[in-house]
Amino acid sequence: MRILLTGAAGFLGSHLADRFLADGHEVIGMDNLITGNLDNISHLENEPRFDFVEHDVTQFIDITGNLDGVLHFASPASPVDYLELPIQTLKVGSLGTHNALGLSLAKGAMFLLASTSEVYGDPLVHPQPESYWGNVNPIGPRGVYDEAKRFAEAITTAYRRYHGVDTRIVRIFNTYGSRMRPGDGRVVSNFIVQALLGRGLTVYGDGSQSRSFCYVSDEVEGIFRLFFSSEHDPVNIGNPDEYTVGQLAERVQALVDPGVGVRYLPLPTDDPKVRKPDITRAREILGWEPSVSLEEGLVTTVAYFRSLQEQGELRPPPVLTEASEEQAR
Ligand code: UDP
Repeated sequence: MRILLTGAAGFLGSHLADRFLADGHEVIGMDNLITGNLDNISHLENEPRFDFVEHDVTQFIDITGNLDGVLHFASPASPVDYLELPIQTLKVGSLGTHNALGLSLAKGAMFLLASTSEVYGDPLVHPQPESYWGNVNPIGPRGVYDEAKRFAEAITTAYRRYHGVDTRIVRIFNTYGSRMRPGDGRVVSNFIVQALLGRGLTVYGDGSQSRSFCYVSDEVEGIFRLFFSSEHDPVNIGNPDEYTVGQLAERVQALVDPGVGVRYLPLPTDDPKVRKPDITRAREILGWEPSVSLEEGLVTTVAYFRSLQEQGELRPPPVLTEASEEQAR
């Protein structure tokens, strides 16, 4: 197959490019590099089945030749990014998704949307099945991402119903692993980078809020299977092993430096109190479930950030504080 992958220089996008290339497909990777990084795809420089195009998908997407599939992964994906790039986040989820769908329609290509557990907002149902409609604040700081992805799901479904585009929707839950930006701002990279630098781990709130962390190889395998399935309705792909943020901090301390302390900061606005995927549908439809435990995944991820540290590339990561939220308002 010849596929277009938007967000190809990002964390998940670059791993997906590897997965499709390993399976013999041809990949056109597209990214505007506002949060993506060419280092993530530098190993593909001499790969004849990979092409990179620097382009902002909120502008018309022009691809010559046939296309069999479009995977739309372009978007800022960290709460720190939504504060800095609120308009771009809204545009890539809305206009970018519209352009990517229009291209799929014109080329007769399958379309897969990278959606998110954020469509569930601060959930009132736990764990979250795909049938849950969510609890989202449209005008809060996270609303720019949540609502853009909810719109993206709606327009993807409309293109299937109205235009007959062959679509898939994956709802991705917190994923971590190599190629995350050290300055991403999300919890796994923040804690590891802070521990490696010997700084206190910044726990927001009292650390009792929960997340369920999926290692990147598991996430990519689930997405890959969904793409080749015939399932049109959204499918949760995530690891249902749930941890509090405080427990994650303890694991990172134990792994990197038991002497490093914890710094408590205020809980950001609208931060979901719990999150855990119900993966019944992924198990039944795709025969998929995660296989990498948090312990194993953290070891590999710490090794990745250590290698960046050896190259002198680790700086204290950004943290969400009341001041940074206020400044963004
Ligand atoms: N978090 C934290 N310290 C950090 C970064 C995040 O305690 O330095 C918390 C955050 O408040 C949230 C959880 O970790 O409850 C996951 O945050 P992340 O930004 O990774 O992703 P989210 O799931 O909120 O989109």
